[in-house]
Amino acid sequence: MRDDVPWALHPGDDLDKTPFERLYGVAEEDLREVDAFWDGNLLYTKDSGAREVLEQQGLPPQHAIAYEASPGVLYVAMNGVTLTGPCGAGGETANAAKKCSALVDAETSFPAAGNAGQQAALFNQLADYYEPFDIVLTTSEPPEWMPYTMAVIGGSAGNAGQPGGVCGVANVQCDGLRRNHVSLTFPGSCGGSAETAAQETAHNWGLEHTDNTTDLLYPYNTGGFKTFVDDCMDISHATGDGVTQCDYIHEEYCPGGGGEQQNTYQELLGVFGPRTPDDQAPSIVEITPPDGSTFTTDDAFTVSARIEENSNFVAVRWELQGGDTTLTRCSNNVCDQDFNAGVGFDPSEVDWDFTTLTSPPPGEYTFTFEVLDAYGGYDTQTSTVTVTQGRGSGGDPTGGGDETGDPTAGPGGTGSGTDDGQGSGSASASDSAPGGEGSGGSDDDGTDTDTAGASGEGEGGGGGSGCSNRPQGTHGFLALALLGLTLRRRRRG
Ligand SMILES: [Zn+2]
Repeated sequence: MRDDVPWALHPGDDLDKTPFERLYGVAEEDLREVDAFWDGNLLYTKDSGAREVLEQQGLPPQHAIAYEASPGVLYVAMNGVTLTGPCGAGGETANAAKKCSALVDAETSFPAAGNAGQQAALFNQLADYYEPFDIVLTTSEPPEWMPYTMAVIGGSAGNAGQPGGVCGVANVQCDGLRRNHVSLTFPGSCGGSAETAAQETAHNWGLEHTDNTTDLLYPYNTGGFKTFVDDCMDISHATGDGVTQCDYIHEEYCPGGGGEQQNTYQELLGVFGPRTPDDQAPSIVEITPPDGSTFTTDDAFTVSARIEENSNFVAVRWELQGGDTTLTRCSNNVCDQDFNAGVGFDPSEVDWDFTTLTSPPPGEYTFTFEVLDAYGGYDTQTSTVTVTQGRGSGGDPTGGGDETGDPTAGPGGTGSGTDDGQGSGSASASDSAPGGEGSGGSDDDGTDTDTAGASGEGEGGGGGSGCSNRPQGTHGFLALALLGLTLRRRRRG
Protein backbone atom coordinates (compact mmCIF):
# COMPACT_ATOMS: atom_id res chain seq x y z
CA MET A 1 0.00 0.00 0.00
CA ARG A 2 1.23 3.55 0.51
CA ASP A 3 4.82 3.68 1.67
CA ASP A 4 4.13 6.40 4.19
CA VAL A 5 1.41 4.33 5.89
CA PRO A 6 3.09 0.98 6.55
CA TRP A 7 0.48 0.00 9.13
CA ALA A 8 -2.33 0.05 6.55
CA LEU A 9 -2.08 -3.01 4.34
CA HIS A 10 -3.87 -3.43 1.03
CA PRO A 11 -6.17 -6.46 1.03
CA GLY A 12 -4.74 -7.71 -2.28
CA ASP A 13 -8.02 -9.03 -3.64
CA ASP A 14 -9.22 -9.44 -7.20
CA LEU A 15 -11.14 -6.21 -7.02
CA ASP A 16 -8.12 -4.13 -7.85
CA LYS A 17 -7.71 -5.88 -11.17
CA THR A 18 -9.35 -4.58 -14.30
CA PRO A 19 -11.65 -6.92 -16.21
CA PHE A 20 -8.91 -7.15 -18.84
CA GLU A 21 -6.39 -8.31 -16.24
CA ARG A 22 -8.78 -10.80 -14.74
CA LEU A 23 -9.41 -12.19 -18.21
CA TYR A 24 -5.92 -12.21 -19.68
CA GLY A 25 -3.81 -12.36 -16.55
CA VAL A 26 -1.79 -9.29 -17.54
CA ALA A 27 -2.17 -5.88 -15.98
CA GLU A 28 -2.50 -2.99 -18.43
CA GLU A 29 0.67 -1.39 -17.11
CA ASP A 30 2.54 -4.63 -17.78
CA LEU A 31 1.34 -4.98 -21.35
CA ARG A 32 4.04 -4.84 -23.95
CA GLU A 33 4.11 -1.37 -25.40
CA VAL A 34 2.37 -1.37 -28.71
CA ASP A 35 1.47 1.66 -30.70
CA ALA A 36 -2.12 2.68 -30.67
CA PHE A 37 -3.38 2.83 -34.22
CA TRP A 38 -6.18 4.54 -36.06
CA ASP A 39 -8.45 2.72 -38.46
CA GLY A 40 -10.47 5.44 -40.07
CA ASN A 41 -12.06 7.32 -37.17
CA LEU A 42 -11.52 4.49 -34.72
CA LEU A 43 -8.61 4.35 -32.31
CA TYR A 44 -7.34 1.02 -30.98
CA THR A 45 -5.11 1.20 -27.92
CA LYS A 46 -3.03 -1.44 -26.18
CA ASP A 47 -5.88 -2.43 -23.85
CA SER A 48 -8.56 -2.35 -26.55
CA GLY A 49 -8.76 -6.11 -26.98
CA ALA A 50 -8.36 -5.50 -30.73
CA ARG A 51 -7.28 -8.56 -32.70
CA GLU A 52 -4.07 -7.00 -34.01
CA VAL A 53 -3.11 -5.62 -30.61
CA LEU A 54 -3.67 -8.96 -28.91
CA GLU A 55 -1.53 -10.63 -31.55
CA GLN A 56 1.30 -8.21 -30.82
CA GLN A 57 0.92 -8.99 -27.13
CA GLY A 58 1.00 -12.71 -27.77
CA LEU A 59 -2.43 -13.04 -26.17
CA PRO A 60 -5.01 -15.24 -27.86
CA PRO A 61 -8.41 -13.49 -28.15
CA GLN A 62 -10.83 -14.72 -25.54
CA HIS A 63 -13.86 -15.68 -27.50
CA ALA A 64 -16.31 -14.89 -24.76
CA ILE A 65 -15.43 -12.08 -22.50
CA ALA A 66 -16.91 -13.14 -19.28
CA TYR A 67 -19.06 -10.81 -17.35
CA GLU A 68 -22.72 -10.37 -16.87
CA ALA A 69 -24.44 -7.44 -18.55
CA SER A 70 -24.41 -4.48 -16.19
CA PRO A 71 -25.86 -0.97 -16.25
CA GLY A 72 -23.73 1.92 -17.40
CA VAL A 73 -23.57 5.69 -17.13
CA LEU A 74 -23.08 8.02 -20.10
CA TYR A 75 -22.19 11.62 -19.32
CA VAL A 76 -23.15 13.83 -22.26
CA ALA A 77 -20.76 16.77 -21.99
CA MET A 78 -21.95 19.69 -24.14
CA ASN A 79 -20.82 22.72 -22.16
CA GLY A 80 -17.16 22.72 -23.07
CA VAL A 81 -14.52 20.20 -22.02
CA THR A 82 -10.74 20.31 -21.85
CA LEU A 83 -9.01 16.98 -22.30
CA THR A 84 -5.47 16.67 -21.02
CA GLY A 85 -4.26 14.17 -23.62
CA PRO A 86 -2.93 10.70 -22.77
CA CYS A 87 -3.48 9.57 -19.17
CA GLY A 88 0.11 8.89 -18.23
CA ALA A 89 1.08 6.45 -15.52
CA GLY A 90 -0.97 3.44 -14.59
CA GLY A 91 -1.61 2.03 -18.01
CA GLU A 92 -4.91 3.76 -18.61
CA THR A 93 -5.60 4.87 -22.16
CA ALA A 94 -8.60 6.94 -21.17
CA ASN A 95 -10.48 7.96 -18.05
CA ALA A 96 -13.42 10.31 -18.50
CA ALA A 97 -13.31 11.46 -14.87
CA LYS A 98 -9.64 12.40 -15.23
CA LYS A 99 -10.37 14.08 -18.57
CA CYS A 100 -7.60 12.12 -20.22
CA SER A 101 -7.81 10.23 -23.50
CA ALA A 102 -5.48 9.02 -26.21
CA LEU A 103 -7.88 10.57 -28.72
CA VAL A 104 -5.89 13.79 -28.42
CA ASP A 105 -2.10 14.09 -28.30
CA ALA A 106 -2.00 17.04 -25.91
CA GLU A 107 -4.25 19.30 -23.92
CA THR A 108 -7.19 20.22 -26.12
CA SER A 109 -10.27 22.30 -25.42
CA PHE A 110 -13.66 21.73 -26.98
CA PRO A 111 -16.20 24.53 -26.85
CA ALA A 112 -19.84 24.22 -25.85
CA ALA A 113 -22.33 22.87 -28.37
CA GLY A 114 -25.02 25.38 -29.18
CA ASN A 115 -27.56 26.87 -26.82
CA ALA A 116 -29.61 25.23 -24.09
CA GLY A 117 -32.49 24.42 -26.42
CA GLN A 118 -30.24 22.79 -29.00
CA GLN A 119 -28.47 20.84 -26.28
CA ALA A 120 -31.77 19.58 -24.86
CA ALA A 121 -32.94 18.43 -28.28
CA LEU A 122 -29.66 16.68 -28.92
CA PHE A 123 -29.72 14.98 -25.52
CA ASN A 124 -33.30 13.79 -25.95
CA GLN A 125 -32.58 12.28 -29.31
CA LEU A 126 -29.51 10.49 -27.98
CA ALA A 127 -31.55 9.21 -25.03
CA ASP A 128 -34.16 7.89 -27.48
CA TYR A 129 -31.51 5.92 -29.36
CA TYR A 130 -30.30 4.29 -26.15
CA GLU A 131 -33.74 3.78 -24.65
CA PRO A 132 -33.73 -0.05 -25.03
CA PHE A 133 -30.53 -0.47 -23.03
CA ASP A 134 -29.68 -0.04 -19.37
CA ILE A 135 -27.61 3.07 -19.88
CA VAL A 136 -28.27 6.11 -17.72
CA LEU A 137 -27.66 9.32 -19.66
CA THR A 138 -26.91 12.49 -17.77
CA THR A 139 -25.80 16.04 -18.46
CA SER A 140 -24.51 16.38 -14.88
CA GLU A 141 -20.97 15.24 -14.32
CA PRO A 142 -20.94 12.20 -11.98
CA PRO A 143 -18.50 12.01 -9.07
CA GLU A 144 -15.05 11.00 -10.19
CA TRP A 145 -15.24 7.64 -8.43
CA MET A 146 -18.16 6.64 -10.67
CA PRO A 147 -16.86 4.88 -13.79
CA TYR A 148 -18.68 6.65 -16.59
CA THR A 149 -18.33 7.02 -20.33
CA MET A 150 -18.15 10.58 -21.61
CA ALA A 151 -19.52 11.83 -24.92
CA VAL A 152 -17.85 15.17 -25.58
CA ILE A 153 -19.97 17.13 -28.06
CA GLY A 154 -18.51 20.42 -29.18
CA GLY A 155 -16.25 22.09 -31.68
CA SER A 156 -15.10 20.79 -35.02
CA ALA A 157 -12.78 18.13 -36.36
CA GLY A 158 -9.96 20.64 -36.47
CA ASN A 159 -10.09 21.06 -32.68
CA ALA A 160 -9.02 17.44 -32.36
CA GLY A 161 -6.45 17.56 -35.13
CA GLN A 162 -8.74 15.55 -37.43
CA PRO A 163 -9.26 16.37 -41.11
CA GLY A 164 -12.42 18.13 -42.22
CA GLY A 165 -15.35 15.87 -42.91
CA VAL A 166 -14.77 13.82 -39.78
CA CYS A 167 -17.94 13.96 -37.67
CA GLY A 168 -16.59 12.19 -34.61
CA VAL A 169 -13.92 9.85 -33.26
CA ALA A 170 -13.73 7.22 -30.52
CA ASN A 171 -11.50 4.54 -29.16
CA VAL A 172 -12.86 1.03 -29.31
CA GLN A 173 -12.90 -1.34 -26.35
CA CYS A 174 -14.02 -4.74 -27.55
CA ASP A 175 -17.08 -5.98 -25.62
CA GLY A 176 -17.42 -2.80 -23.56
CA LEU A 177 -14.81 -3.98 -21.13
CA ARG A 178 -14.13 -0.41 -20.05
CA ARG A 179 -16.86 1.91 -18.89
CA ASN A 180 -14.87 5.11 -18.50
CA HIS A 181 -13.73 6.01 -21.96
CA VAL A 182 -14.32 9.09 -24.10
CA SER A 183 -15.68 9.90 -27.55
CA LEU A 184 -15.71 13.14 -29.49
CA THR A 185 -18.51 14.48 -31.67
CA PHE A 186 -18.02 17.61 -33.78
CA PRO A 187 -21.20 19.62 -34.35
CA GLY A 188 -19.06 22.28 -36.03
CA SER A 189 -18.19 19.81 -38.79
CA CYS A 190 -21.38 17.81 -39.34
CA GLY A 191 -25.08 18.04 -38.66
CA GLY A 192 -26.96 15.25 -36.93
CA SER A 193 -24.78 15.28 -33.83
CA ALA A 194 -27.06 12.97 -31.84
CA GLU A 195 -26.68 10.35 -34.56
CA THR A 196 -22.91 10.80 -34.54
CA ALA A 197 -22.71 10.70 -30.75
CA ALA A 198 -24.76 7.49 -30.68
CA GLN A 199 -22.25 5.89 -33.01
CA GLU A 200 -19.14 7.21 -31.25
CA THR A 201 -20.30 6.07 -27.81
CA ALA A 202 -21.19 2.67 -29.20
CA HIS A 203 -17.62 2.43 -30.54
CA ASN A 204 -16.41 2.94 -26.96
CA TRP A 205 -18.30 -0.20 -26.02
CA GLY A 206 -16.89 -2.39 -28.78
CA LEU A 207 -19.07 -1.84 -31.84
CA GLU A 208 -17.55 -1.38 -35.29
CA HIS A 209 -19.18 -0.21 -38.52
CA THR A 210 -21.89 -2.02 -40.47
CA ASP A 211 -23.01 -1.57 -44.07
CA ASN A 212 -26.71 -1.21 -43.20
CA THR A 213 -27.77 2.36 -43.98
CA THR A 214 -30.50 2.23 -41.29
CA ASP A 215 -28.09 1.14 -38.54
CA LEU A 216 -26.55 3.75 -36.24
CA LEU A 217 -23.18 2.06 -36.86
CA TYR A 218 -23.35 2.83 -40.60
CA PRO A 219 -20.14 4.84 -41.06
CA TYR A 220 -21.71 7.84 -42.79
CA ASN A 221 -23.96 10.41 -41.23
CA THR A 222 -26.82 10.47 -43.72
CA GLY A 223 -29.28 12.46 -41.69
CA GLY A 224 -31.78 9.68 -42.15
CA PHE A 225 -33.68 7.74 -39.56
CA LYS A 226 -31.46 5.18 -37.87
CA THR A 227 -31.65 2.81 -34.91
CA PHE A 228 -29.39 0.24 -33.32
CA VAL A 229 -30.51 -2.53 -35.66
CA ASP A 230 -31.25 -6.02 -34.34
CA ASP A 231 -29.86 -8.03 -37.21
CA CYS A 232 -26.61 -9.64 -38.26
CA MET A 233 -25.16 -7.13 -40.71
CA ASP A 234 -21.94 -7.20 -42.68
CA ILE A 235 -19.10 -5.22 -41.17
CA SER A 236 -18.31 -2.16 -43.25
CA HIS A 237 -14.73 -1.34 -44.15
CA ALA A 238 -15.65 1.72 -46.17
CA THR A 239 -13.65 3.97 -43.85
CA GLY A 240 -10.98 1.63 -42.52
CA ASP A 241 -8.16 -0.65 -43.56
CA GLY A 242 -10.25 -3.78 -43.93
CA VAL A 243 -9.48 -5.58 -40.66
CA THR A 244 -12.25 -6.22 -38.15
CA GLN A 245 -10.69 -5.90 -34.72
CA CYS A 246 -13.44 -7.13 -32.37
CA ASP A 247 -14.44 -9.96 -34.70
CA TYR A 248 -14.19 -12.58 -31.97
CA ILE A 249 -16.83 -10.71 -29.97
CA HIS A 250 -19.15 -9.99 -32.90
CA GLU A 251 -19.11 -13.71 -33.65
CA GLU A 252 -20.67 -14.40 -30.26
CA TYR A 253 -23.77 -12.56 -31.42
CA CYS A 254 -23.67 -13.63 -35.06
CA PRO A 255 -22.33 -17.18 -34.95
CA GLY A 256 -22.78 -17.63 -38.70
CA GLY A 257 -20.93 -14.46 -39.57
CA GLY A 258 -17.39 -15.65 -38.99
CA GLY A 259 -16.66 -12.40 -37.17
CA GLU A 260 -17.47 -10.33 -40.25
CA GLN A 261 -21.03 -9.60 -39.17
CA GLN A 262 -22.29 -7.57 -36.23
CA ASN A 263 -25.68 -7.45 -34.48
CA THR A 264 -25.50 -3.94 -33.13
CA TYR A 265 -28.60 -4.17 -30.93
CA GLN A 266 -27.82 -7.52 -29.35
CA GLU A 267 -24.22 -6.60 -28.68
CA LEU A 268 -25.27 -3.48 -26.76
CA LEU A 269 -27.82 -5.59 -24.95
CA GLY A 270 -25.04 -8.02 -24.05
CA VAL A 271 -22.98 -5.23 -22.53
CA PHE A 272 -25.70 -3.34 -20.64
CA GLY A 273 -28.79 -5.52 -20.53
CA PRO A 274 -32.32 -4.22 -21.12
CA ARG A 275 -33.38 -0.94 -19.53
CA THR A 276 -34.30 -1.56 -15.91
CA PRO A 277 -35.25 1.66 -14.14
CA ASP A 278 -33.98 1.43 -10.59
CA ASP A 279 -35.43 3.58 -7.82
CA GLN A 280 -34.10 1.34 -5.08
CA ALA A 281 -30.90 2.77 -3.67
CA PRO A 282 -28.06 0.52 -2.53
CA SER A 283 -27.92 0.08 1.21
CA ILE A 284 -24.93 -0.51 3.42
CA VAL A 285 -25.71 -3.58 5.51
CA GLU A 286 -22.74 -3.32 7.83
CA ILE A 287 -19.31 -1.92 8.30
CA THR A 288 -16.73 -3.91 10.20
CA PRO A 289 -15.42 -3.17 12.69
CA PRO A 290 -18.61 -1.53 13.93
CA ASP A 291 -18.74 2.01 15.23
CA GLY A 292 -17.35 2.30 18.77
CA SER A 293 -15.01 -0.71 18.56
CA THR A 294 -11.74 -0.53 20.47
CA PHE A 295 -8.41 -2.11 19.67
CA THR A 296 -4.88 -1.89 20.96
CA THR A 297 -1.70 -1.22 19.06
CA ASP A 298 -1.01 -4.95 19.29
CA ASP A 299 -4.02 -5.72 17.10
CA ALA A 300 -4.66 -6.10 13.44
CA PHE A 301 -8.10 -5.64 11.97
CA THR A 302 -9.60 -5.45 8.51
CA VAL A 303 -12.02 -2.71 7.56
CA SER A 304 -14.76 -3.98 5.31
CA ALA A 305 -18.38 -3.42 4.32
CA ARG A 306 -21.31 -5.36 2.95
CA ILE A 307 -24.03 -3.85 0.84
CA GLU A 308 -27.36 -4.81 -0.67
CA GLU A 309 -27.97 -3.64 -4.22
CA ASN A 310 -30.50 -4.85 -6.76
CA SER A 311 -28.33 -4.16 -9.84
CA ASN A 312 -24.86 -5.49 -10.53
CA PHE A 313 -23.15 -2.16 -10.92
CA VAL A 314 -22.05 0.19 -8.17
CA ALA A 315 -19.39 2.79 -7.57
CA VAL A 316 -17.85 2.77 -4.10
CA ARG A 317 -15.52 4.91 -2.06
CA TRP A 318 -13.71 4.32 1.23
CA GLU A 319 -11.92 6.98 3.21
CA LEU A 320 -9.87 6.64 6.38
CA GLN A 321 -9.14 9.62 8.59
CA GLY A 322 -6.71 8.95 11.41
CA GLY A 323 -3.12 8.19 12.24
CA ASP A 324 -2.28 11.66 10.88
CA THR A 325 -3.28 10.67 7.39
CA THR A 326 -6.06 10.24 4.89
CA LEU A 327 -6.28 7.03 2.92
CA THR A 328 -8.76 6.15 0.16
CA ARG A 329 -9.87 3.19 -1.90
CA CYS A 330 -12.53 3.64 -4.57
CA SER A 331 -13.72 2.73 -8.00
CA ASN A 332 -12.53 4.35 -11.25
CA ASN A 333 -8.84 4.51 -10.41
CA VAL A 334 -8.90 7.91 -8.72
CA CYS A 335 -7.94 6.87 -5.15
CA ASP A 336 -4.89 5.49 -3.36
CA GLN A 337 -6.17 2.02 -4.19
CA ASP A 338 -8.66 0.98 -6.84
CA PHE A 339 -11.83 -1.07 -6.82
CA ASN A 340 -12.48 -2.39 -10.28
CA ALA A 341 -15.81 -4.02 -9.81
CA GLY A 342 -17.60 -2.25 -12.63
CA VAL A 343 -18.39 -5.48 -14.38
CA GLY A 344 -18.27 -9.09 -13.39
CA PHE A 345 -19.33 -8.89 -9.77
CA ASP A 346 -22.57 -9.00 -7.84
CA PRO A 347 -22.15 -6.07 -5.43
CA SER A 348 -24.21 -7.83 -2.77
CA GLU A 349 -21.85 -10.79 -2.75
CA VAL A 350 -18.64 -8.81 -2.54
CA ASP A 351 -16.76 -8.03 0.65
CA TRP A 352 -15.78 -4.44 0.12
CA ASP A 353 -12.46 -4.72 1.93
CA PHE A 354 -10.69 -1.42 2.43
CA THR A 355 -7.53 -2.00 4.42
CA THR A 356 -6.01 -4.06 7.21
CA LEU A 357 -4.60 -1.96 10.01
CA THR A 358 -1.69 -3.73 11.67
CA SER A 359 -0.35 -2.16 14.83
CA PRO A 360 -1.62 1.28 13.89
CA PRO A 361 -0.61 4.26 16.02
CA PRO A 362 -2.91 4.99 18.98
CA GLY A 363 -5.80 7.33 18.29
CA GLU A 364 -9.20 7.59 16.70
CA TYR A 365 -9.84 6.26 13.21
CA THR A 366 -12.89 7.18 11.19
CA PHE A 367 -13.86 5.07 8.22
CA THR A 368 -16.43 6.37 5.75
CA PHE A 369 -17.97 4.19 3.07
CA GLU A 370 -20.07 5.49 0.18
CA VAL A 371 -21.93 3.56 -2.48
CA LEU A 372 -23.70 4.82 -5.59
CA ASP A 373 -25.60 2.94 -8.29
CA ALA A 374 -26.00 3.85 -11.96
CA TYR A 375 -29.38 5.51 -11.34
CA GLY A 376 -27.99 7.78 -8.62
CA GLY A 377 -29.17 5.77 -5.60
CA TYR A 378 -26.75 6.46 -2.76
CA ASP A 379 -25.90 5.39 0.77
CA THR A 380 -23.10 6.21 3.20
CA GLN A 381 -22.06 5.03 6.62
CA THR A 382 -19.26 5.86 9.03
CA SER A 383 -17.51 3.86 11.73
CA THR A 384 -15.16 5.35 14.29
CA VAL A 385 -12.87 3.08 16.27
CA THR A 386 -10.33 3.76 18.99
CA VAL A 387 -6.87 2.28 19.14
CA THR A 388 -5.14 2.38 22.54
CA GLN A 389 -1.56 1.59 23.50
CA GLY A 390 -1.10 -2.17 23.86
CA ARG A 391 1.50 -4.14 25.76
CA GLY A 392 3.80 -3.80 22.83
CA SER A 393 4.78 -7.39 22.30
CA GLY A 394 1.93 -8.73 20.27
CA GLY A 395 3.47 -12.13 20.77
CA ASP A 396 0.49 -14.19 21.82
CA PRO A 397 -0.55 -16.13 18.75
CA THR A 398 -3.72 -17.55 20.25
CA GLY A 399 -5.30 -14.21 20.73
CA GLY A 400 -5.40 -13.35 24.39
CA GLY A 401 -5.52 -9.62 24.38
CA ASP A 402 -6.53 -9.54 20.77
CA GLU A 403 -9.77 -11.34 21.40
CA THR A 404 -10.94 -9.13 24.18
CA GLY A 405 -11.18 -6.04 22.06
CA ASP A 406 -14.23 -6.94 20.08
CA PRO A 407 -14.66 -10.59 19.31
CA THR A 408 -17.57 -10.09 16.98
CA ALA A 409 -15.74 -7.67 14.79
CA GLY A 410 -12.62 -9.70 14.35
CA PRO A 411 -10.88 -9.66 11.04
CA GLY A 412 -11.26 -13.37 10.70
CA GLY A 413 -14.84 -12.92 9.68
CA THR A 414 -14.00 -10.39 7.09
CA GLY A 415 -11.31 -12.49 5.56
CA SER A 416 -13.41 -15.52 5.08
CA GLY A 417 -16.27 -13.51 3.81
CA THR A 418 -14.23 -12.36 0.86
CA ASP A 419 -13.51 -15.87 -0.21
CA ASP A 420 -17.13 -16.83 0.07
CA GLY A 421 -18.32 -13.80 -1.78
CA GLN A 422 -16.02 -14.12 -4.73
CA GLY A 423 -16.30 -17.77 -4.95
CA SER A 424 -18.63 -20.28 -5.76
CA GLY A 425 -20.89 -19.93 -2.86
CA SER A 426 -19.44 -22.40 -0.49
CA ALA A 427 -22.28 -24.56 0.62
CA SER A 428 -21.44 -24.45 4.27
CA ALA A 429 -21.54 -20.72 4.38
CA SER A 430 -24.91 -20.20 2.80
CA ASP A 431 -26.53 -23.15 4.48
CA SER A 432 -25.60 -22.15 7.96
CA ALA A 433 -26.66 -18.57 7.71
CA PRO A 434 -28.18 -17.36 10.93
CA GLY A 435 -31.62 -15.85 10.67
CA GLY A 436 -30.77 -12.59 12.28
CA GLU A 437 -31.62 -10.18 9.54
CA GLY A 438 -34.94 -9.79 7.83
CA SER A 439 -34.99 -10.26 4.14
CA GLY A 440 -36.82 -7.02 3.45
CA GLY A 441 -37.98 -8.20 0.10
CA SER A 442 -34.49 -8.36 -1.28
CA ASP A 443 -33.99 -10.43 -4.35
CA ASP A 444 -30.37 -11.03 -3.52
CA ASP A 445 -29.53 -14.46 -2.36
CA GLY A 446 -26.11 -13.95 -0.92
CA THR A 447 -26.82 -11.57 1.89
CA ASP A 448 -26.34 -14.00 4.71
CA THR A 449 -23.00 -15.40 3.76
CA ASP A 450 -21.05 -12.76 5.60
CA THR A 451 -22.40 -13.60 8.99
CA ALA A 452 -22.14 -17.30 8.37
CA GLY A 453 -18.57 -16.98 7.24
CA ALA A 454 -17.70 -14.91 10.23
CA SER A 455 -18.87 -17.44 12.75
CA GLY A 456 -17.18 -20.32 11.00
CA GLU A 457 -13.84 -18.67 10.63
CA GLY A 458 -13.77 -17.27 14.12
CA GLU A 459 -13.15 -20.65 15.67
CA GLY A 460 -10.05 -21.44 13.76
CA GLY A 461 -8.25 -18.19 13.30
CA GLY A 462 -8.90 -15.50 15.79
CA GLY A 463 -7.09 -12.27 16.17
CA GLY A 464 -5.38 -10.83 13.18
CA SER A 465 -4.27 -14.08 11.73
CA GLY A 466 -7.52 -14.85 9.99
CA CYS A 467 -6.99 -11.99 7.64
CA SER A 468 -3.32 -12.15 6.91
CA ASN A 469 -3.49 -15.89 6.40
CA ARG A 470 -6.16 -15.66 3.81
CA PRO A 471 -5.49 -18.40 1.29
CA GLN A 472 -4.18 -16.28 -1.53
CA GLY A 473 -3.81 -19.19 -3.87
CA THR A 474 -7.50 -19.80 -4.11
CA HIS A 475 -8.46 -16.35 -5.31
CA GLY A 476 -7.55 -16.96 -8.91
CA PHE A 477 -9.43 -20.17 -9.05
CA LEU A 478 -12.48 -18.74 -7.40
CA ALA A 479 -12.49 -15.82 -9.76
CA LEU A 480 -12.33 -18.12 -12.72
CA ALA A 481 -15.18 -20.15 -11.38
CA LEU A 482 -17.20 -17.00 -11.00
CA LEU A 483 -16.40 -15.85 -14.50
CA GLY A 484 -17.42 -19.17 -15.94
CA LEU A 485 -20.69 -18.99 -14.12
CA THR A 486 -21.61 -15.50 -15.21
CA LEU A 487 -20.65 -16.18 -18.78
CA ARG A 488 -23.37 -18.75 -19.13
CA ARG A 489 -25.92 -16.35 -17.77
CA ARG A 490 -24.92 -13.57 -20.08
CA ARG A 491 -24.82 -14.89 -23.58
CA ARG A 492 -27.94 -15.60 -25.46
CA GLY A 493 -28.85 -19.24 -25.27
ZN1 LIG B 1 -17.77 5.35 -36.53
